Amino acid sequence: MYSAPFDYLRPATLDEAVALLARHGEDAKVLAGGHSLIPAMKLRLARPKVIVDIGRIANLSGIREVDGRIAIGPMTTHADIEASALLQKRCPLLPETASHIGDMQVRNKGTIGGSLAHADPAADWPAAILALDAEIEIVGRPGRRTVRADAFFVDLLQTAIGPGEILCEIRIAPTPRSVAYEKTEQKASGFALAGVAVVVQPGGRDIRVGVTGVAAKPYRATAVEKALAGQRSLTPETIARAATHAADGVDALGDIHASPEFRVHLAQVNTRRALTRALERI
Ligand SMILES: Cc1cc2nc3c(=O)[nH]c(=O)nc-3n(C[C@H](O)[C@H](O)[C@H](O)COP(=O)(O)OP(=O)(O)OC[C@H]3O[C@@H](n4cnc5c(N)ncnc54)[C@H](O)[C@@H]3O)c2cc1C
Repeated sequence: MYSAPFDYLRPATLDEAVALLARHGEDAKVLAGGHSLIPAMKLRLARPKVIVDIGRIANLSGIREVDGRIAIGPMTTHADIEASALLQKRCPLLPETASHIGDMQVRNKGTIGGSLAHADPAADWPAAILALDAEIEIVGRPGRRTVRADAFFVDLLQTAIGPGEILCEIRIAPTPRSVAYEKTEQKASGFALAGVAVVVQPGGRDIRVGVTGVAAKPYRATAVEKALAGQRSLTPETIARAATHAADGVDALGDIHASPEFRVHLAQVNTRRALTRALERI
């Protein structure tokens, strides 16, 4: 199936891309890896008149350490993240999460910026980005602004990126090895029915839990975090008890792949498994 006709523009700089988005307004869409946008256009779920391809803009892809923080360009592919020696050493949750995404072809074309901007409720990155408490930089006509991960995901397929804006960087503090991502995937696509990312800070006291796939938008499982915060020792029993709160206060999704009850159950199981594995790595 072919998409509706569109004009294709390929800016050379970020400023040019922002100017093009401002000029074409709601008619324009950013193109990154195209693995969500192009299928949506073929199905006529999206009908942009203008495509602004940001794939050739210098410095929008790559991973580097700047002033003790790791900066990732939005055009960095899932495969680049999976293979990054810097991330395997300094932020191992990201390569682990990347390894769960789709298949090799999806990982070679899909980008972290495209995935975060698209905000599919079953995407893998949001769980890790929330557990890592990442900062997301966005650029538009008025300039640059930074949004924390927990304010970035607004609703189903909706983020803090406004009209005419481009996600231009993701920044993360280096983490220790005590991290884990556990996921139950929908077998045909690989998308998450429930994916849980855990980051345990040194000492084991500060634990962050990000959940994707369960609700319309990804979330921090704060009830789990609170249940663990007061514990003197994290035994298998205390971990299992805390994990039962993985979907507290959440309106779970149901579809042909999983009922709301099953998604809640998977969130609880994957939370227990991710906590157990991350804590074993301390
Ligand atoms: C068969 C298949 C299996 C998949 N399995 C998984 C899976 O298991 N787990 C998973 O997480 N994902 C999966 N995906 C999705 C994949 O990871 C996509 O690559 C990703 O969701 C979108 O990234 P992209 O670079 O392709 O973005 P695109 O498709 O190019 O763009 C997606 C949306 O984001 C906007 N956008 C892109 N970049 C920016 C930016 N920098 N700033 C502002 N807006 C931007 C676009 O305008 C568009 O609306 C799968 C996809 C396919 C086709």
